[in-house]
Amino acid sequence: MAKVGFIGLGNMGGPMAANLVKAGHVVSGFDLSGDLVAALQRAGGSPTGSIADAVSDADFVFTMLPAGKHVEAVYGGSDGVFAHASSGAALVDCSTIDVETARNVAGEASQKGFSMLDAPVSGGVTGAAAGTLTFMVGGPETAFAAAEPMFQAMGKTVVHAGDAGSGQAAKICNNMILGVSMIAVSEAFALADRLQLDRQKLFDISSTASGQCWSLTSYCPVPGPVPTSPANRDYAPGFTAAMMLKDLKLAGEASATSGATTPMGTLACELYDQYCAQGNQDVDFSGIFRFLSATDN
Ligand code: NAD
Repeated sequence: MAKVGFIGLGNMGGPMAANLVKAGHVVSGFDLSGDLVAALQRAGGSPTGSIADAVSDADFVFTMLPAGKHVEAVYGGSDGVFAHASSGAALVDCSTIDVETARNVAGEASQKGFSMLDAPVSGGVTGAAAGTLTFMVGGPETAFAAAEPMFQAMGKTVVHAGDAGSGQAAKICNNMILGVSMIAVSEAFALADRLQLDRQKLFDISSTASGQCWSLTSYCPVPGPVPTSPANRDYAPGFTAAMMLKDLKLAGEASATSGATTPMGTLACELYDQYCAQGNQDVDFSGIFRFLSATDN
C-alpha cells in the first residue's frame, strides 16, 4: 500500500485515482474543480485543497492534466509539486504533452533530486474506468520498476519505452498512425459508396487482405461491420475528434523540431482541424468518415 498524491481529477484522472483507491492505496487528490475533488472522496480518496496538501506526504505523485503549460505550472512555482513533495517521492505525469516540455520538466525534477516518469496513456475514458489503460513510459529504469505496480492498478499493458520523453514520443507516433489510418479507411469506404461496392463486402475483403488495420477491423468508421464501433451509435465518443487533433498537432510540432518528414501526419492534422471547425470537436474521431463522404467538402 502506497501513499499517492493525485493532481488533475478530470475525465481520465478521476477514474484512474479511483482505481488506485480500489487497489488499496491511500490517495489524496486535488483539482481546481471542487466537484471533482468531492467525487474522489465519494470513491474513497482523501480530498485536499492544494497541491501542497495532496503531495507533501506522498510516495508517488501522479498528474493528469490538459497540456504542457498545466504540467509546468503544477510542478514548478512556489506552490507546486517540486516545492512540496517529500524528497523520496516518485513523480509520474500521465498527461499527453509535447516531448520537449516532458524532457524539460523531467530535467528540472532530476536537478531537484526527484525521479520522474512521463507515462501518457491510451484507452480513453472507458479504459480509465475499467482499469485497462495502456501506459507508455519514459524515464529511468529504476523509477519505472518502482512505479509498475501502480500502473498495473490502472492499466492492462505497461511498456517502458526509453529515457525521459520516450512515453510522449510513443504516444504521438502511435496516434499519428491512428489518425492517418482512420482517414485512409474512411476514404476507402467513401470511394466504395460511389462505386456501388457494398460496405460489408469491402470489409470482408480488406479485413483479411492487405488493407487490414485497427481502424478497419476494431473501429470501423461505417455502421454495420463492427457492431461495437462508434459509427453504430451516431459517433458518440470514444475518442473525440478534438483529442485526435490535439495529438496530431503535437506530432506536427515534434516533426518540425526534430526535422522528421511526416506529410501524411500534416494532412491528417489539417483534415481534423477542418472537421473540428465544423463543430465536431466532441464527436468521435471516426466521424471523419461523414466529413470525407460529404459532397460539399
Ligand atoms: P480533463 O480536462 O477532463 O481533466 C484535466 C483536469 O486537470 C481538469 O479537471 C482540471 O481542472 C485539472 N487541472 C488543470 N490545471 C490544474 C491545476 N493547476 N491544478 C489542479 N488541477 C488542474 O481532461 P482529460 O480528458 O482527463 O485528459 C487529461 C489528459 O489525458 C490530457 O492530456 C489528454 O490529452 C489525455 N488523454 C485523454 C484521453 C481522453 O479520452 N479523455 C485519452 C488519452 C489521453
